[in-house]
Amino acid sequence: MRVRTRVAPSPTGDPHVGTAYVALINYCFAKKHGGDFILRIEDTDRARSTAASEDVILRALRWLGLAWDEGPDIGGAHGPYRQSERLEIYAEHARRLLESGHAFRCFCTPARLDAMREEQRRASRPPAYDGRCAHLSPDEIAAHLAAGEASVVRLRVPHEGSVTIEDMLRGPIVFEWSTVDAQVLVKSDGWPTYHLANVVDDHLMEITHVMRGEEWISSAPKHLLLYRAFDWEMPKIAHLPLLRNADKSKLSKRKNPTSILFYERMGYLPEALANFLGLFSVPPVDGEEMMDLATMVSRFGTDHIALGGPVFDVKKLDWLNARYIREKLDVPQLMTRVRDWALNPAYLGAIAPLAHQRIERLSDLGPLLAFFFGGRIAVDAAELRAGKLDDTQLRQAFVIALALFDAVPDWNVANTQGAIRAVGDALGLKLRDAIRPFYIAITGSAQSVPLFDSMAILGRDLVRERTRVALDALGGATKNETEAWKNLIPKPTPHADARPSEAVPAGSSV
Ligand code: GLU
Repeated sequence: MRVRTRVAPSPTGDPHVGTAYVALINYCFAKKHGGDFILRIEDTDRARSTAASEDVILRALRWLGLAWDEGPDIGGAHGPYRQSERLEIYAEHARRLLESGHAFRCFCTPARLDAMREEQRRASRPPAYDGRCAHLSPDEIAAHLAAGEASVVRLRVPHEGSVTIEDMLRGPIVFEWSTVDAQVLVKSDGWPTYHLANVVDDHLMEITHVMRGEEWISSAPKHLLLYRAFDWEMPKIAHLPLLRNADKSKLSKRKNPTSILFYERMGYLPEALANFLGLFSVPPVDGEEMMDLATMVSRFGTDHIALGGPVFDVKKLDWLNARYIREKLDVPQLMTRVRDWALNPAYLGAIAPLAHQRIERLSDLGPLLAFFFGGRIAVDAAELRAGKLDDTQLRQAFVIALALFDAVPDWNVANTQGAIRAVGDALGLKLRDAIRPFYIAITGSAQSVPLFDSMAILGRDLVRERTRVALDALGGATKNETEAWKNLIPKPTPHADARPSEAVPAGSSV
């Protein structure tokens, strides 16, 4: 049997270091066994998936050196590798499940499901589909369909007994069927949910080992049912511990930047970042933690993966990165890296137009553009306070902006401008007044090159980080303030091709 693993990111945001960590493990496992590593794009969440996000995810994983053998960009014998291009395959498999009775059509409206969940909440029962449509007769189904009612397809789940999943890392995990919900497999718009698409693809793409984040553990019994329903063998499965902040909470951008693009923009070397992420599944060689990808592949073993929760320790990454710069690069190589990092035509080409009409001498470029080549910026609180906003307004502006920066679908000039405008609107400020603190936080000066273009170039996570630093310079916001200011945050407007994904129970991330 040829080992085949995959990483299956959803293109709904910036490339997450967690995705790289999972990808690295799948890569090492496949290569160690002489197998294939596949990249599949899981874009069945139509409201949140974007082509731009897919592009940056691919670019980030490639930057880290994780070359895949099959994928949407290079094709392969099991394509297409983008789920939005496989809809007919899922529809056919959903038909099979309906015919064999392993799934059923559900006509419950979102309003009815809301009321059902509300009732369950009040009775302190876990939210779960109550089975109203599980046993409709063919005539009843025909009548609903004839009336043009929307429907979803749900998985039929046993009510009694239990099932055991053999996890490669955790051993047997027992699930009571009574705790497993009748998962939606096909949404009312005909698109599959994660569960159906993922199982069908893993089978058709001949994946032998599924190694994914531990947040998917509760999906495993549903997936097992699907494999059984199709009479397929389930791949071996491992649920990897999630990356953690230093305080052991789940890695989140509130405490640590999580986008690979941030680490790239900060000037971490890809091999240092890959090495750092690999240390969670590869033991050091005689105490030496510095290892290239080939060494990590040869030393990789799932028994080295500690379940305790790997801590994303930025200090360790800094230490490792510094060693890579000092020990692995000579000066000419360093120069090449710096050129590739920021002194390259693409980056300079994005920045130069912003400065072109604003300088008298080339030497003006240094002070004007330094913020494009730095990481965090030391913010002068007095300078922030010198504008029209009082302390509370300043802190509110930053808190609102941080929430909006997360919500912006694609990080581009129009959307960054929209976010800062929305901050001004939320606080009843003129754009000119609202924008000033962001100039200081993000460019280091109240007057600089155009802000929105600069934000777009710097990237979401670095902008976010500089905003957070500015908020901290004013003493931060207390928990109560953050809570109280939540209602100042405007609701994000869904982007153009957003469609409701109704009838998908909360938490069933698709
Ligand atoms: N699309 C899922 C994710 O982004 C993949 C989970 C899996 O590997 O099955 O986490």
